[in-house]
Amino acid sequence: MHANPPCINAAGAVLDDAQRRFDELLAHLPAGVVMHDAAGRVVAANRQALALLGRSDHQLQGTQGGDAAWHFVRADGTRMPPAEYPANAVLRTGAKVSDLVVGVPRPDEGDVRWAICNAYPERDERGDVRSIVVCFTDCTALKYAEQSLHKSEERMRLALQGSTDAPWDWDLATGEIYYSARWWEMLGYVPDEQQADVDAWVRLTHPEDRLRVLALLDELLPGPRQAYSMELRLRHHDGHYVPILSRGFILRDGAGKAVRLSGTNTDLTERKQVEHRIHELAYFDQLTGLPNRRFLLDELGQILARNGRAGRHGALLFLDLDNFKLLNDTMGHDVGDLLLREVARRLRRTLREGDHLARLGGDEFVIVLENLGQSPAEATTEVHAVGRKLLDVLAEPFELAGRQCASSPSIGATLFDGAPTSIDALLRQADLAMYRAKEEGRNTLRFFDPGMQAAVDRQAALAAALRTGIADRQFVLYCQPQFGHDGSLVGGEALVRWQRGANDLVAPGEFIGAAESGGLIAALGMDVLEQGCHALARWARAPCLRALKLAVNISVHQLRDPDFPHAVATLLAATGAPADRLTLELTESVFARNPADLVERMQQLRGLGVHFALDDFGTGYSSLAYLARFPLAALKIDRSFVQDVDNDPNASSIVEAIIALARKLHLATIAEGVELDAQQAFLTAHGCDVMQGYLLGRPVALDEFERHYGRPNAGAYQAASGSST
Ligand code: C2E
Ligand code: CA
Ligand code: CA
Repeated sequence: MHANPPCINAAGAVLDDAQRRFDELLAHLPAGVVMHDAAGRVVAANRQALALLGRSDHQLQGTQGGDAAWHFVRADGTRMPPAEYPANAVLRTGAKVSDLVVGVPRPDEGDVRWAICNAYPERDERGDVRSIVVCFTDCTALKYAEQSLHKSEERMRLALQGSTDAPWDWDLATGEIYYSARWWEMLGYVPDEQQADVDAWVRLTHPEDRLRVLALLDELLPGPRQAYSMELRLRHHDGHYVPILSRGFILRDGAGKAVRLSGTNTDLTERKQVEHRIHELAYFDQLTGLPNRRFLLDELGQILARNGRAGRHGALLFLDLDNFKLLNDTMGHDVGDLLLREVARRLRRTLREGDHLARLGGDEFVIVLENLGQSPAEATTEVHAVGRKLLDVLAEPFELAGRQCASSPSIGATLFDGAPTSIDALLRQADLAMYRAKEEGRNTLRFFDPGMQAAVDRQAALAAALRTGIADRQFVLYCQPQFGHDGSLVGGEALVRWQRGANDLVAPGEFIGAAESGGLIAALGMDVLEQGCHALARWARAPCLRALKLAVNISVHQLRDPDFPHAVATLLAATGAPADRLTLELTESVFARNPADLVERMQQLRGLGVHFALDDFGTGYSSLAYLARFPLAALKIDRSFVQDVDNDPNASSIVEAIIALARKLHLATIAEGVELDAQQAFLTAHGCDVMQGYLLGRPVALDEFERHYGRPNAGAYQAASGSST
């Protein structure tokens, strides 16, 4: 430094050129410089020093550190005693002062500026202190960064109390990393032995996560982000990887340069386990461990897109176990569960790695095959081969709870290609094909064809038309006469027809099934019953008809309704029909499910006076034990036996046996479908009570029936003329 003090305001002083240049330089120096005389009084200060101290040149002249004019605070915020002022310290000790941090409270702004001070004495030839030079470097930004770090650390410390998070801190300037004890413990290490291992986090990061972490640092350090949060895996002492949530924030100096990175690690092991469990519960079937419906639907969307792009075929197979319900009911649900598990195991084992298998629920499984052939024919062949394997592997007997059981599946399959299809449509198609497989004898595979869909669509359209038909009362009754063994008219069977248009009369075979499956049979059945009761009431007032009985067919669905007996009673009362003239015809399907309830309902109806006949006898369940339990009045021998009674010895034996059985049980017998004299002769000879058939009379419209048979002496074996079906 120049020997003479650079007096900035030395008015009148003659400065030589070098001196002026030096002063110029001092004025532009980024550091503040203050010159004190040998007594410690300020003699000069450059522009930066004045700015830092917040004083004018005039205010500073002649003052001393610690005067009322200006004072400093220490790094810890306490007021600095005069003896510690850099210039005073140099005067006192004769030694220089290095890197002393001082705070300068600024009178105008009320805050504190921070500076690093260096001070040294200038001596004359004799070695006496002539002046003291004090340099100030503004470090306010750094100081605040440090303070906020301390504040953050404090906040973090508070936040971490009671938590298991592990703090760490990385000084980017020195490269030092501090790992908390918990940091090491989280990874299974004894902390004390590891503290020096600065590169630990890099070494322990999972190789697959390392690049990600480095990329994050690259992005983070230049700014402007202040914080980050990321998941990574760190290697545990025992070798496994611990899922970690790492969160941190960056401290920057005044220039925005990152100086520190601090944060915490959170062990996610438990959370991962819970997440995994939730995922498992949501997407996997607990019984078999297979993906569930939800998983399948998610997956299918992607598969369809994938196969569409690849231009290849795939197939969706719907597999349903045959008779599973029966096994469940007879052997118990535990055994049913065992079967499902074993079926799942066998299916999985049989399918290839890339094939998808899911359990939809119950005994329904879905298989999705991808990457089949390019052509539908190739794909079909492949699906057949897979289907064959599945049928074979499930045909092997099952050993369940120590017992051998057999099971078989029905499989429906449908192909998909690039064409847009909805997942719903595919499932429906495979489901339809599966039902076809069931219809065609089970234990087999059927492909969906558009005809199946068309049939379903027709069925839906029919149900809709039926609904309007019922509302519009388009259903009319025909009646077919029934004759006793002496040839006299004893009654008639009401047979419903659908008058869809003036010349469009639809036979019941075309709509009763749809009415049953469409939930419309109850309404239709009540309509029929009502018309039947009105007829009976009319007949009661007509001399020639008053002894006749009317048989009305009812569906088992009607009898399943607990209110049915009450509804019938109401109808009888409302119409005035004599209850004991009404016969309800039921098929053997009433024996199939919950017969006890049905028996009770039949008893109630019997209580009203109503009779029952068992229709189509011999074709259904034929549980003879039930015959005695049900309050029946008659058995109707099915048309198929009557047809062959004159030429097939088996049929004739069966008819003979039915008549004998009915007699033993005190039931009447009615033969239906009598078309030939020989049939009639056989039936009469073997004691059949009542006969019905085209030979004796076709079904005719009810009013025509009444007109014809209402005439005196019209009763015996005379078919009503006119339109018949
Ligand atoms: P079903 O109860 O066995 O009725 C007898 C069917 O045999 C009637 O057919 C009748 O027209 C027909 N038939 C009568 N005599 C002969 C004959 O000598 N030869 C031949 N080949 N057939 C004969 P329809 O009227 O078409 O009724 C068919 C089925 O529809 C009935 O069979 C019955 O199960 C059902 N059905 C008819 N009306 C009703 C009803 O109101 N409610 C319910 N739930 N079902 C009904
Ligand atoms: Ca019938
Ligand atoms: Ca019948």
